[in-house]
Amino acid sequence: MKNTKYYSNNYFEDLALGQHPEFLYIGCSDSRVTAEDLMGLKPGEVFIHRNIANLVNNIDLNVMSVINYAIRHLKVNHVVVCGHYNCGGIKAAMQPVDMGILNPWLRNIRDVYRTHKAELNKIEDENARYNRLVELNVQEQCVNLIKTAAVQEAYNERGLQVHGWVFDIHTGKLIDLNIDFPKILQGIMEIYRLY
Ligand SMILES: [Zn+2]
Repeated sequence: MKNTKYYSNNYFEDLALGQHPEFLYIGCSDSRVTAEDLMGLKPGEVFIHRNIANLVNNIDLNVMSVINYAIRHLKVNHVVVCGHYNCGGIKAAMQPVDMGILNPWLRNIRDVYRTHKAELNKIEDENARYNRLVELNVQEQCVNLIKTAAVQEAYNERGLQVHGWVFDIHTGKLIDLNIDFPKILQGIMEIYRLY
């Protein structure tokens, strides 16, 4: 397949020189939400990891390797967790159905629901409740990032920033959740601090 989208005279020579992305993007595997298109970036500008429902799971070697490599070796300065409304993973997690091998993965999302049960159960409209769970899931995955040694070290060294975003498939808008990290982390950093 020929892709002429970004083609220029020195395009491949420049790419072959190496990569120095500013961003690590952790998003959903959903085929509708591709990182470069969402962010308007070109190859070489963002390091990417995608999985079902954009989870940062502590014992997932894949995501943890990506985080370590991007932060400690590529020296990205921004880490983005990007969820999206109408996320099939979030919806599947809230159905009372045995999903086989997906059960342990989706249980991370059920745990997010449990943590925020009081707020979520007050929302009567089912769709609005799912949307809020999408946002809270992004928030919790950002907190999971902040629990890692790589993020804590890079925050101290060079002020690495973590961002929580949600993509609205209906409007095409990318929403910054402006998560209040100091408030959320108050009281938990005494447990998770590594640096
Ligand atoms: Zn999704």
